[in-house]
Amino acid sequence: MVKQIQDVDEFYEPYDDEDDPLTIFSAPTYFETDEQLVLIAFLMLLEQRYRLMQSMTPQEIVDEVEDIMSSLHTELFETVDSKATNHIRNYFEKILDEFSIPNTNYVAMDTSMLDLMKDSLDNMVNQLNGEIKVKSKFFIDNMSKDTFNLLPNFKRAVQKIVDAVGNNLIHGKEKSKRNVYKFVYGKDKLYRWLCVNDMKTCDWCLYQQSLPPRTIDELPLDHPHGRCTIDPIDYTYSDEYYVMLARGEYATAIQLESEY
Ligand SMILES: [Zn+2]
Repeated sequence: MVKQIQDVDEFYEPYDDEDDPLTIFSAPTYFETDEQLVLIAFLMLLEQRYRLMQSMTPQEIVDEVEDIMSSLHTELFETVDSKATNHIRNYFEKILDEFSIPNTNYVAMDTSMLDLMKDSLDNMVNQLNGEIKVKSKFFIDNMSKDTFNLLPNFKRAVQKIVDAVGNNLIHGKEKSKRNVYKFVYGKDKLYRWLCVNDMKTCDWCLYQQSLPPRTIDELPLDHPHGRCTIDPIDYTYSDEYYVMLARGEYATAIQLESEY
């Protein structure tokens, strides 16, 4: 298990033979193949910095880490603007096609998740930069350089990239699809939350399914890799129903629903 923050024990952590950079800087297979390709573009940038620093002394790292992290930051952001953006846009255009919407003048893809992705990557680079500086200085002050191991720091950064990029890609696609739904069905359309209903279905999802139909803005996003769907329903409810929904008075809304 990867620790969330660096502690002193980690300064003495030797190289682990099982830590193969080839597997550490790779995308988890629970992502779709095209999502993995986007992730790999980000992870490659990180791996380049890891390999570069492996050939440097702690003193050289202290002197150069700011510049190395600054160029990493720039390239990560460029990759959000190119690879991640294109990935969401391709999916969005596929959904537009499914509904025979000719172009994007009518409805826009979601970009808020790309902003969140940048915020998370920004935090990741800042943390990595800070940790590497502290660790390098500690080695300069206390120890020889031969057990100097930055892999725990980079493993943490890999995990953050997988979460930040992977999850926001998935949510960006889902929110883009919802933008299309809102355009096609109108913002007052109600949807039921549908679970697969098997052993793996969690309590949170079952709870969502137990709630009365809600508008798209009132529906939370599923877990990344979640299997739940939202199903537009054909009939419309009274104004009172919408008032109860907006107030979060779901029991009353269910009562109203049962009267139809
Ligand atoms: Zn669930």
